[in-house]
Amino acid sequence: MLTVNVELKERRYPIYIGENLLKDPSVYPLKSGDKVMIVSNETIAPLYLDTVTKTLENIGCKVSNVLLPDGEKYKTLQSLDLIFTALLKENHGRDTTLIALGGGVIGDVAGYAAASYQRGIKFIQIPTTLLAQVDSSVGGKTAVNHPLGKNMIGAFYQPITVIVDTLTLNSLPKREVNAGLAEVIKYGAILDLAFFHWLEQHIDNLVALQQADLQYCISRCCQIKADVVARDETEKGDRALLNLGHTFGHAIETHLGYGNWLHGEAVAVGMMMAAALSEQLGNISKADVGRLEKLLARANLPTISPDTMQPEDYLPHMMRDKKVLAGKLRLVLLKTLGQAYVTTDMDKSLVLSAISACTQ
Ligand code: NAD
Ligand code: MG
Repeated sequence: MLTVNVELKERRYPIYIGENLLKDPSVYPLKSGDKVMIVSNETIAPLYLDTVTKTLENIGCKVSNVLLPDGEKYKTLQSLDLIFTALLKENHGRDTTLIALGGGVIGDVAGYAAASYQRGIKFIQIPTTLLAQVDSSVGGKTAVNHPLGKNMIGAFYQPITVIVDTLTLNSLPKREVNAGLAEVIKYGAILDLAFFHWLEQHIDNLVALQQADLQYCISRCCQIKADVVARDETEKGDRALLNLGHTFGHAIETHLGYGNWLHGEAVAVGMMMAAALSEQLGNISKADVGRLEKLLARANLPTISPDTMQPEDYLPHMMRDKKVLAGKLRLVLLKTLGQAYVTTDMDKSLVLSAISACTQ
């Protein structure tokens, strides 16, 4: 088992990464007599809820659960209310621990429920998608969507422990695994050339879910994100680097309608656009843009714009992105592989030509 510690001023917590951790009582920060509510969904519960429940009952915890319907469209205030109702009906007090068992959607909803139920209760994350294991379960952002905007209602709220059982990825659809790899590749590209190089050597093993490589990879990603978050918990500076490819990707997701392309697929193309723009500006070399493209392709990710989208379709969406400040397009670009930076007022015609360079 690998451990990554997230160092935050007043709250430090561990991320445990390994096989069969769902069954390992030693990773749960709970004791006999503790009350626990597991939040999961109708897809994940049949696979893993019994295992987690049994482990907790063996510790001596009193365990109940609440199951949400599956999907981003249920990341809502209504789902939050379902959790609150379940907690209240069973007289859960401030000493209860909420456990999120699922992907990023479950983690985000359950996290916000934990942040707000009786002004905050203890929270444990058990992420079961690669995206949740390397990204959404690290950093303490929790939220639900509002009809007028994604992630518009939420809080920064840190878990007491994150438990990553890498065997859960065996049941995850391959397309979801690959989408998670886009965020993995992103970490190498923005901050860690040595990790990028490691990925070039091990990407086939990751696609095939080879356990040892998977565990090292997840721990490295958690460490990179944890370091960034420790420097900048509430996104005033460095945390913005984590958005490489996301402003372009956001345009793809909104233009196609959420759910048609997975987030990671849109981010993969977005990273190619950011790299193309960086190259035009005289930063990253053509050869390194080629390395990025090849790595993404080996993870079965798209590297060019969807064929139903024209270059002009991007900017209107990009200007509405929440990362835009005072009408100025802020973009994360690459100085080189492993070194990203934020621009403050990017010329729109250059942006357009970078998008065109990634359009068939
Ligand atoms: P998801 O939670 O919708 O999971 C994807 C699909 O896989 C779902 O159908 C889910 O039921 C299923 N699933 C999950 N684990 C499984 C398993 N082990 N086996 C089989 N099926 C499984 O999607 P996601 O990509 O994990 O998360 C996306 C969400 O994360 C978005 O709402 C996004 O806003 C959020 N997010 C949050 C942060 C953050 O910092 N809080 C960061 C990135 C993304
Ligand atoms: Mg992302």
